[in-house]
This record gives sequence, structure tokens and C-alpha cells, in this order.
Amino acid sequence: MPEVHATIAGFRAALDASRAAGADVGFVPTMGYLHEGHASLMRAAAAECAVAAASIFVNPLQFAASEDLSDYPRDLDRDLALADACGVAHVLVPSVEEMYPRPVLTTVTVADITARFEGAARPEHFAGVATVVSKLFSIVGPSRSYFGEKDFQQLAVVRRMAADLSMPIEVVGCPIVREADGLALSSRNVYLSPDQRAAAPVIHRALDAAAAAVAAGQRSAAAVEAIVADAIGAEPEAVLDYAALVDAATLEPAAAVDGEQRLLVAARFGTTRLLDNTAITT
Ligand code: AMP
Repeated sequence: MPEVHATIAGFRAALDASRAAGADVGFVPTMGYLHEGHASLMRAAAAECAVAAASIFVNPLQFAASEDLSDYPRDLDRDLALADACGVAHVLVPSVEEMYPRPVLTTVTVADITARFEGAARPEHFAGVATVVSKLFSIVGPSRSYFGEKDFQQLAVVRRMAADLSMPIEVVGCPIVREADGLALSSRNVYLSPDQRAAAPVIHRALDAAAAAVAAGQRSAAAVEAIVADAIGAEPEAVLDYAALVDAATLEPAAAVDGEQRLLVAARFGTTRLLDNTAITT
């Protein structure tokens, strides 16, 4: 089993000792309730780095008062067994008091990239993410850190933060892991009712249809976005929040299909918001 650290000092000391012994460190931050998506990040960290580490912390700063913080799903024993199977050597499992012993006066905000999409839907969210990730990066020290493309805007925010602040971290993006029917794995999928779960793969089908239209020559961003909106609009269990074609690096909305882009989707199934996206490259 991995060594479990309840304290920042113990986790930091273990990783400092690894580096002092010549090992490079791979790090996977998570909120727990781990699934195969998280496992893919942990396996990549263990394959590419001598020592793999992870954190499990449901970060209150990134939840609004109205959101699902208190009933966010948790299963530490199962999480540690999965981390073990993926080759993770050290796991930080801090309490909220350990991470935030005093009211937080210092926060990290990333402008612009956070203004749209998830940032518009959840105004405090990305400041909470950037603050906890910068804190974790400062605890972990020089490392490669693994994030899923599933949360594509989060990946862009973390990349930009690490670059802007010269953090000694190489941010590595990893592909989206899906269920057999195409639904992107998410800890929040457990909130779906059976009918919502049965309907949810419409998101991936909509993205596939849009990508197929691009492959067949469609070059209008509005037309590509409309394919997604129409497919999701036709599903009674789903309400579309946004479907947007954006530049993959800046997340600027695009008018035309051109270069390295990403098609981002958020849709609600009851009270559960699901995110997905796909690469659109010409
Ligand atoms: P979370 O525990 O939801 O904060 O996610 C921790 C990390 O796992 C983030 O970098 C997510 O993007 C990543 N992740 C979550 N779901 C998936 C998935 N289906 N495929 C790949 N990575 C994922």
C-alpha cells in the first residue's frame, strides 16, 4: 500500500528525500472517489517517473455554498487500493484544518482563461482550483504533474498558472477515459438516476457527430456548435449549458474551424453538470 501522509510536512519530506536520492517525482492531485480516469493519470505518473505521488483532498475553496461539497462521494480505502495498484508510493490525505489552518488571505487567480464557460457558471471555482493546486505544487516541489483533458479548462488554467509563476512543474495532460458507451468517467456520475445515466452518452455522441462533420469539411464554428446543441437538445433528460469551439491554448471562442481547437460541452442532467470535450484539429 502507498504511504499515507496526513501532514503536509511528512509528504513534503518524503518527496524531498526521493529527489535527494536521485528519483524524479510524478504527482496526481485528485478529490478522491477514484475511477479509471484517475487511475490513468496515476499509471502515467508511475510509468514516467521514479516515484509517483497523489493527493486526495476535497477542496472547499472550489465549491460554492450551494454546491455538493458535503455530499461529495468519498471512499478512502478503495482509493488507496487503486493508488496502490497503479504504483503510487505516497498519498497526501490532509484534513481541511491541515490545508487551511487559518482563513485564507492569499489566493491565486488566473485572468481571462477563467472568464468563460466553467468560470462563468461557477464564479469562485477556478480561484479555488488555482489556489489549492499552487499550494499542492509548492508542497510537492519539482515534479511532473498529471491532469486529465476531461476538465480541459482546468488543465489550461493550471498550465498557464505554472508558466506565469515559473513553478518548477511540468504539467502533463492525459486523454479522457470513457465508459464503454462513451460517457466520460467522473466521480459525479454516481449522482445520475438510471434514466439520466442511460441518456448521458448523448454528450459523446454529439461530440463525435460534430467531429465527423468537421472531417467531412464543415468549417463554421456556429454550425459545429449547433450539431452538439441539437443532439443534446433532442434528449429530454439533458439541458445544454454550452457547446463552444475554442482555441486549445487560449480558450478564446473561435469563429471558424482552424488549427488546434477544442470543442467544449457542459450539460445538466437534473442537478448534475457533466463536462466533456474533444479535439478538433485541421
Ligand atoms: P477530480 O478528482 O475530479 O478533481 O479529478 C482529478 C483529476 O482526474 C483531474 O486532473 C481530472 O481532469 C482527472 N480526470 C477526471 N475524470 C477523468 C477522465 N474521465 N479521464 C481522464 N482524466 C480524468
